[in-house]
Amino acid sequence: MLGLMQEHPLVISSLIDFVEREHPEQEIVTRTGERSEDRHRITYAELADRARRLAAALHRLDIGLGDRVATLAWNTHRHLEIFYGVSGVGAVCHTINPRLFAEQVAFMINEAEDKLLLVDLDLLPVVEAVAPALNHLPPIVVLAPQDQLPASLPVASANLLSYETLLAESAPSFAWPALDERTAAVLCYTSGTTGKPKGVLYSHRAILLHTYAACMKDALGFGAADTVMPVVPMFHVMAWGIPYAAAAVGCKLVLPGRYLDAPSLCDLIIEEGVNFAAGVSTIWLNLVHHLEATGTRLPSMERILCGGSPVARTTVQEFAEHADVKVVHAWGMTELSPIAGVNSPKRGTARYPSPAYFELQKKQGRALFGIDIKTVDEAGRMLPRDGTTSGFIKTRGHWVIEEYFRHAGEGTVDADRWFDTGDVGTIDEHGYLLITDRTKDMIKSGGEWISSIELENLAVSHPAIAEAAVIAVKHPRWVERPLLLCVKQPSAEASREDILAFYDGKVAKWWIPDDVLFVDSLPYTATGKLFKSELRKQYADYEITGR
Ligand code: ADP
Repeated sequence: MLGLMQEHPLVISSLIDFVEREHPEQEIVTRTGERSEDRHRITYAELADRARRLAAALHRLDIGLGDRVATLAWNTHRHLEIFYGVSGVGAVCHTINPRLFAEQVAFMINEAEDKLLLVDLDLLPVVEAVAPALNHLPPIVVLAPQDQLPASLPVASANLLSYETLLAESAPSFAWPALDERTAAVLCYTSGTTGKPKGVLYSHRAILLHTYAACMKDALGFGAADTVMPVVPMFHVMAWGIPYAAAAVGCKLVLPGRYLDAPSLCDLIIEEGVNFAAGVSTIWLNLVHHLEATGTRLPSMERILCGGSPVARTTVQEFAEHADVKVVHAWGMTELSPIAGVNSPKRGTARYPSPAYFELQKKQGRALFGIDIKTVDEAGRMLPRDGTTSGFIKTRGHWVIEEYFRHAGEGTVDADRWFDTGDVGTIDEHGYLLITDRTKDMIKSGGEWISSIELENLAVSHPAIAEAAVIAVKHPRWVERPLLLCVKQPSAEASREDILAFYDGKVAKWWIPDDVLFVDSLPYTATGKLFKSELRKQYADYEITGR
């Protein structure tokens, strides 16, 4: 017997309709210019109006169901309108990270066969750089008023349109088409940290279910009374779903544009009263150093969601001490829409701001309802949740990938639809996951695994060390051994021996890196992760002496 309840498709247009109806007056603030006070304000009612005008304009430009529309844009109200306008008409919003290499951007535009490019004014040089490698240069809509458009682009035959003119010429009466909830809504490429970028094609349904989960208290857990700042870019897995979750709850949104330096973020947080923010570890590391150096406090800020790469215990502790801000560790992937787990408390687990809380935050978190997670051994056998047995992390669920875009039938998931994340770690008896490495970054010394992440975490807990990366280098006897590369804190002193002695008693003797090299900087990927494959290349011929 079937239930007798209504069934409505889970589509993105329902979010914008909802927020327009229930929270029309709520604000979206965007930092727009060089000066801290350069801010643009819009309400959700106006945002919805502009998203519909964009939809009408897309129709005029012959963009319809399934067509890919690429964006090269920062976190702004216009990008938000595009998220709703493009997906709302049944087209696919293809967000591109402008910090990637030109060849990668060109590869993505070519593979996606984008029919239109929506580009922030200051990112037009990216289009110019990639244009020669494109199979076909689509029309370009510049996200600016007509009078700010350049007279011409050096790119041959570039057809430049003004976004504001397109909207002004459109009627706001556009009605969202009825879509199947399985329709593709967004396309996002993996950052290619460990190989060629691959497209992940999200459906409206997956995004909506992810939105419901993101709004749970143990996930992002913000509501209509909150002021939320996604620092994580909208081109980085849809800013972790915050643009959708914000509409689902009707919170105030604060969008930092391209101004992600610590002083700019501080100004926005303080002046707009931000109490929840989300972003990658490097952003928060810079911010907390700025707070320490300037003695700035963030009175409104309550929680910062931090993910994308491991969060050091020191970061969590420093935020608590300098700003009374609770840092919450989260874990996800492009292939997981992206949030899979958040480190929220259970009854009986450590509470903020105890030392035990800081320690627990080293773990990436517990699975959200909607995501199954397990660790397996090399033969695929499920491993115990004991917090010590390490294995390959697999997931499946409502917002987990089934197949990569244009890679159908390549076995992205196994017969039971488990997706291998490429991460290695443990799950404890309470369900908290600890990632110890990515498969490709692992160090196998004499047949035993060493966790590079744990060694890095320890290194940055040394007062003289600001950043650390541990990579495997070749060793004649042990096959691989860990090499520690680190950047010192400004004007701090420490020797190789100091750092090695610091590991004594904290890890097994054979885990201690064989060597320490002090470097001026470490390479990071376009999404802010340590670029370890690059480091491995650089140190491929490094010779370990001793041992
Ligand atoms: P890419 O896979 O191209 O680096 P993603 O942004 O999808 O791009 O990165 C997903 C990966 O990032 C995960 O598989 C994991 O290795 C890493 N990651 C994400 N969040 C965390 C975290 N909190 N701690 C450790 N690693 C993380």
